[in-house]
Amino acid sequence: GPLGMGQVFMQARVAPLGSSHVLLLLDDRTEARRLEEVRRDFVVNVSHELKTPVGGLRLLAEAVEDAKDDPEAVERFAQRMQVETARLAQLVKEIVDLSRLQVADALHEPRLVDVGAAVQEAIEWSRTGADAKEIELAVAAEPDLKVFGDEELLVTAVRNLVGNAIAYSDAGTKVAVGVRRAGDTVEVSVADQGHGIPEEEQSRIFERFYRVDTARSRATGGTGLGLAIVKHICANHGGDVTVWSREGRGSTFTMRLPAAADHSGEAGDQPTTP
Ligand code: ADP
Repeated sequence: GPLGMGQVFMQARVAPLGSSHVLLLLDDRTEARRLEEVRRDFVVNVSHELKTPVGGLRLLAEAVEDAKDDPEAVERFAQRMQVETARLAQLVKEIVDLSRLQVADALHEPRLVDVGAAVQEAIEWSRTGADAKEIELAVAAEPDLKVFGDEELLVTAVRNLVGNAIAYSDAGTKVAVGVRRAGDTVEVSVADQGHGIPEEEQSRIFERFYRVDTARSRATGGTGLGLAIVKHICANHGGDVTVWSREGRGSTFTMRLPAAADHSGEAGDQPTTP
């Protein structure tokens, strides 16, 4: 946008340093302001998102009290309280995860991670959900592809993508997960034959709490944080995540991570046989 008074003043003050310094300072300032806005929006959104399950729990607690002479009703309300509590716990966990991931050095002790193994673990977590919906979960992974990073975070990222693929697809469809080497990167793709995402929404779905269809997404139990978490995990590994999608045909999410240099197969590392 147009420069504010403070920025004009600053520009005048630092002008003798040369124009490249001026641009740098202006950039820093805009970036700091943008981050402050992002942080403020996040706090507002978090309070809003927490109000819904907390309000639901309060109503259910009142309902239990009112129904205390009707054991069946008490049991029904108690079960719904468990579901709401689990959802609230998940929301709080994802908010904490995301806050941690936003810190630049979220990868404390990066290690070599076998991507195929991480994907396999994510798949095991998602198997029950897929079976319940009669969705076929297929994996095709090239062996021995490694990245430098945090296995637990990578499992979380793939779990989120596979979980979404299942949640936003109909029964009887297929979800295909692929792991392959592409140049200097390891690609993990998750392809579904689900509802798809309208083109104009595709750039926004990675934002925190953004959902294409709020009602339907809430019904699937989502928090709206899953893809924001995937995006930050990829960024922390020096990679990124993109989406291809056509409405009514399906979506493919692709994580691209820098491949770890693997010297084990190279001649220099092996004792040379005469
Ligand atoms: P949620 O918890 O709502 O799933 P996400 O951040 O994981 O939140 O996803 C944001 C939104 O993107 C979802 O609410 C949904 O509208 C859309 N979305 C994500 N993955 C898919 C998919 N595989 N197919 C269709 N829509 C998707």
